[in-house]
Amino acid sequence: MNDYILLPETSVKTVCESDVVVGGGGIAGISAALAAARNGAKVLLVEKGCLLGGLATLGLIAIYLPLCDGLGHQVSFGIAEELLKLSIRHFAEGEYPDAWIGNGREEERKAVRYKVQFNPHMFALEAESLLQAEGVKILYDTKICQAVVKENRITHLIIENKGGRQAISAKSFVDATGDAEICYLAGEETKEFEKKNVLANWYYFFSKGKIDLERLGFAEMSDDEVLNAENDETVESGEQISDIKYGGVDGEEISQMLCDGHAQMLKKILAKRQNDPTYVPVTSPTMPQLRMIRRIVGKYTMDRQEANKDFDTGIGCIGHWRKKGPVYAIPFETLYGNKIQNLITAGRCISVTDDMWDITRVIPACAVTGEAAGTAAAMSSNFSASDISSLREMLKKQGVKLTIHEVNIKEYI
Ligand SMILES: Cc1cc2nc3c(=O)[nH]c(=O)nc-3n(C[C@H](O)[C@H](O)[C@H](O)COP(=O)(O)OP(=O)(O)OC[C@H]3O[C@@H](n4cnc5c(N)ncnc54)[C@H](O)[C@@H]3O)c2cc1C
Repeated sequence: MNDYILLPETSVKTVCESDVVVGGGGIAGISAALAAARNGAKVLLVEKGCLLGGLATLGLIAIYLPLCDGLGHQVSFGIAEELLKLSIRHFAEGEYPDAWIGNGREEERKAVRYKVQFNPHMFALEAESLLQAEGVKILYDTKICQAVVKENRITHLIIENKGGRQAISAKSFVDATGDAEICYLAGEETKEFEKKNVLANWYYFFSKGKIDLERLGFAEMSDDEVLNAENDETVESGEQISDIKYGGVDGEEISQMLCDGHAQMLKKILAKRQNDPTYVPVTSPTMPQLRMIRRIVGKYTMDRQEANKDFDTGIGCIGHWRKKGPVYAIPFETLYGNKIQNLITAGRCISVTDDMWDITRVIPACAVTGEAAGTAAAMSSNFSASDISSLREMLKKQGVKLTIHEVNIKEYI
C-alpha cells in the first residue's frame, strides 16, 4: 500500500524541562544519566520499557563482558566497573572473578577475565534505585517518537505514553536508544548495519531444581576472526538456529523475528523435555535480541585496526571481548555527528565501522561511552565545540583511565 494520509495539525504541551534528556535506559542510558546527574544536571531518562537495563535486563543478556585486556590489566574503569559490581551486588550467577574483585596479583588476573554473569532482574532493580538516589527522573513506558529541530539544535522531543503525546525540552540530549533512534528522528546522519543480525532468543529455564540461562542463538564472527586462532572468548556464541538475517528497522520484520525466535525457543524446550520433564522456561526476553541495527555517522568513525592507539580526545578505554591483548581508547568524536549540535550518542550506536561494532556494542563499552556522553552533556550543549580537556579532566576525576598508556603500561612501552 502506498496511500498516505495527512494528519491534522496539532499542538502538544511541554511537560518537562531538564538540562539533559537521556533517551533509552539500557546500560549506556543508565551510565549517561548517572554521569550527568553527578555533574549537577537536572536529568530526565525516557524509557519505552518498564525496567532499566535494555538488552542486558529486558533482553536477558546477563553476561557483563570483560573490563580487562585478557593480559591481567583492567582497562575500563569508572561507571563501567561500578555497574559491574552493582550487577552482582547480592550474588553472581556463575563464577565470581575473585582475582579482580579481591586483591588478585597480575599473574592471577592473567588467568581469568574480569567479567561476570548477573541476575538481570536484581540488576534492573538496583540500577533504578541508584538512579533515583542520584536524583534522575525516570519516565517509563514512554516512547520518544519525534524530534523538533531548529537551527541545528533539538528544542523538544515528542513523547507518547498513557498521557498521550507530549513534549519535553532540554539543553542537551543523549541518544542511548541502542539504534540511534533520536539521531534518525532529528535528521542526523545514520547508517544501518548492512550484514544484518542472526537470530537469537536467550531465555531462562528451570530444570532439576536450578534456574539457568539458555543462550539460544550464536554471535557471528567476522571472517578474520573465524580464521584467527587467537579468538579466546566463546561465551556469547551458541548454536546457529536459522539462516535468516534481520535488520531491525522495520516493525513487521522485527515482529517476524520475534515469532521466529519464539518458535525456536518452543522447539528447544520440547526437545529438552523429552529427556528432562522438569525443564520449563521461566522468563522470555521482552526486547528484540538484535545486536547491531543503526548508528550515528559521527565526526569520527573508529575502526578495529586502531587497537592500542591513543587519541588526544580519548574518553575511556575498552578491551576486545573476543581476544586477549587489543585495547581501544575511544575518541570523543565517535559520539557526536556533523549536524545536530546538542545531540550526543552512547552505547551500541556510536560511530564505528562494521568490524569495530562487534567490540563497542558490548556492555562495558556501552558503560564507558555512556559515562563520557552524560558527563559531556552536563558540561556542554554544543558537542563539536566542547572543551575536551575539561571533559577529560572531569572523567579522570571520576576514575576513568583515558589512554592506552595508563591502562597497559608495560605492553605499551
Ligand atoms: C543475543 C545477544 C547476545 C549478547 N551477548 C552479550 C554478552 O554476552 N555480553 C555483553 O556484554 N553484551 C552482549 N550483547 C550486547 C549487549 O547486550 C548490548 O549491545 C548492550 O547491552 C546495549 O546497551 P545499550 O544501552 O547501548 O542499548 P540497549 O540495551 O538496546 O538499550 C536501549 C534502550 O533504549 C530504549 N529505547 C529504544 N528506543 C526508544 C525510544 N524511541 N523511546 C524510549 N526508549 C527507547 C530501549 O527500550 C532500551 O531499553 C549481546 C546482544 C545480543 C542481542
